[in-house]
Amino acid sequence: MTELPDRRLLLVHAHPDDESINNGATMARYAAEGAHVTLVTCTLGERGEVIPPELGHLSGAALGGHRLGELREAMRALGVTDFRLLGGAGRYCDSGMMGLPDNDDPGCFWQADVDQAAGLLAEVILEIRPQVLVTYDDDGGYGHPDHIQAHRVAMRAVELAAERGWDVPKVYWNRVPRSVAEESFARLDDDLPGLPFEKAAVVGDVPGVVADEQVTTEIDGTAHAAAKAAAMRAHATQITVAEPYFVLSNELAQPLLTTEYYELARGERPEERESDLFAGIGEAP
Ligand SMILES: [Zn+2]
Repeated sequence: MTELPDRRLLLVHAHPDDESINNGATMARYAAEGAHVTLVTCTLGERGEVIPPELGHLSGAALGGHRLGELREAMRALGVTDFRLLGGAGRYCDSGMMGLPDNDDPGCFWQADVDQAAGLLAEVILEIRPQVLVTYDDDGGYGHPDHIQAHRVAMRAVELAAERGWDVPKVYWNRVPRSVAEESFARLDDDLPGLPFEKAAVVGDVPGVVADEQVTTEIDGTAHAAAKAAAMRAHATQITVAEPYFVLSNELAQPLLTTEYYELARGERPEERESDLFAGIGEAP
């Protein structure tokens, strides 16, 4: 069995593109520093809305296959070689937006048995033995069923893996401090007339915005801004980038943040804001 590097980071996401938007700079930074970075994506985003008209014919499994290719390209941009689909590609499909009949599809991730899906993720945890796991808060950041389910499955998998021999020391949720969101949207409003986008989103559209005090950790990924933008651009069916801004299919401009923020949800809460997800871990066995 090949030895993994001392520092190991596992990220659990709902759809291809979530990892690049939320954690692209963090992933690029740790990969460049020699940490082992593993991404587990729970669905292929088969129900995502497609932006480019020339790809508008893609839906369902065909869109999923296309998005897997986008994910591959994004991971190349970030320097991440270990990325997997939970249970293998196609095991769980996208559940669509909350409240749609899609949520009742028996194959969708929202309908997955949490313990069963968590068991699959626990296998990855036991294989990689990450010191750090990153996922969403219990609302999935913004209430999308697959994001909520990714949270539940990740948190349950941490418990299952702990019972079986690897207790993940630190679990983080993706966050954005309110002051950062407000300042970057103020800048966006000033810049909007020069951008290829018509309208701006508002702070309330951004997942995971919380009071500044709630944020425990800040990862400066400025040096990896180009890699993050390239990774987001790779998800062309979902994102249009005009640095330092981007739009999703709703066409509302948002800031592209290259410093990424987290709240420590498991582990000893630091007194001051950390600048390293592995702070306090040391040289783990
Ligand atoms: Zn998503």
